[in-house]
Amino acid sequence: MLDGHVHTPYCPHGSADAMASYCEEAIKQGITQLSFTEHAPLPEGFKDPTPAQDSAMRWDDVPTYFATIKQLKNDYAKSLRILAGLEVDYIVGFEKETTAILNELGPYLEDSLLSVHFLQTTNGYHCLDYSADGFWSLAEKIGGVDALYHLYYKTVQLSIEASLGSFKPKRIGHMTLCRKYQLRYPASHSFETEWMHILKEVRAQGLELDYNGAGIIKPDCQETYPPLFIAKTAKEMGIPLIYGSDAHTVAGLKSGYDALLP
Ligand SMILES: [Zn+2]
Ligand SMILES: [Zn+2]
Repeated sequence: MLDGHVHTPYCPHGSADAMASYCEEAIKQGITQLSFTEHAPLPEGFKDPTPAQDSAMRWDDVPTYFATIKQLKNDYAKSLRILAGLEVDYIVGFEKETTAILNELGPYLEDSLLSVHFLQTTNGYHCLDYSADGFWSLAEKIGGVDALYHLYYKTVQLSIEASLGSFKPKRIGHMTLCRKYQLRYPASHSFETEWMHILKEVRAQGLELDYNGAGIIKPDCQETYPPLFIAKTAKEMGIPLIYGSDAHTVAGLKSGYDALLP
């Protein structure tokens, strides 16, 4: 059992739970491999649009982050395989700056995710999943929930096509994050054209999907990213689905694990 998506105390919107505590709990839960994938620092010149500006790790914390992983690899060498990773944001218009981050930190990476949390509209950048209210106000601005889903899937598609250098992550994070508030703000249809397009491109490029359990415990979501009907198709297409708890607390480990495809 492996968990390919775990956050740490270096996440400003996460918890102070120590990285060693994640390792202890992972071992207790029967996890044999764990990737720490903290939100990489945001690209130069990008202003975090969230109210608390707390979306990503600070540059100052990066050396300690990787040093701690190195130490934990030693401490738990016998019981847990620990991989050094990052969850890297794909932001339209910041491809060059993101490539620079990847070129700098890539040599330290053993695993990584490419995720979309920020969407570009005509009046700047917005965080998709900061809060339900934020989601709704963004939807209203751009013409409704369907328009927001469409923009999100299009941005994920662009992330897959983007040239981000030789350290570009091989796994696409939570490809249906637009569904985080789906029970409160449903879209009118399933966007099959869009998600099929994403799956085909993921397969064509030999990439993997983050099979993310965090949505299960979100009251307005209650499903994995991607949900079963997409995960089934992905599996049939031979796309590797890599479980990720996306835990921001020790208690969040194994989130949604029981809801995965068998
Ligand atoms: Zn986070
Ligand atoms: Zn994420």
